[in-house]
Amino acid sequence: MSDCIFCKIVAGEIPCTKVYEDSEFLAFLDIKPVNPGHVLVIPKQHYNDFVSMPAEQAAKLYTVVHKIAPGIIAAVGARAFNLGLNNGAEAGQIIFHTHVHIMPRQLKDGLVLWPQREYTEGERDIVAEKIKENLNNL
Ligand code: AMP
Ligand code: ZN
Repeated sequence: MSDCIFCKIVAGEIPCTKVYEDSEFLAFLDIKPVNPGHVLVIPKQHYNDFVSMPAEQAAKLYTVVHKIAPGIIAAVGARAFNLGLNNGAEAGQIIFHTHVHIMPRQLKDGLVLWPQREYTEGERDIVAEKIKENLNNL
């Protein structure tokens, strides 16, 4: 897409700090890392979000993540990482060219993910039933 910042990075029109590339995927440093070595992995082809990707491409994206994550975290002296994928504006997606965040983690680095809550009485069963209904026909 012509106005997409990540398509411009793929096209070489905007610079990035590239750390990995193959014929279909590109990985580069996030300009505002949660920790040093925070990498974004993107398909070179534009998809607005993860669910817009054909399943085969989505699987390949995570195959690349699986391949490169160990080398990324080792390079910054980390042993652990979080993966992140924001799908949709409510989830915090800002760039609508789908991407996976690889975020190296250090002990006591102060990053707090996923504040959790409790289900209210009966809510868990209702939610589970609705989900199962939707997944029945897959
Ligand atoms: P998201 O909220 O999942 O859409 O994340 C978008 C990410 O892209 C943010 O973490 C930004 O810091 C990062 N970002 C935005 N522009 C650039 C850029 N030109 N180069 C590298 N990372 C970028
Ligand atoms: Zn794009």
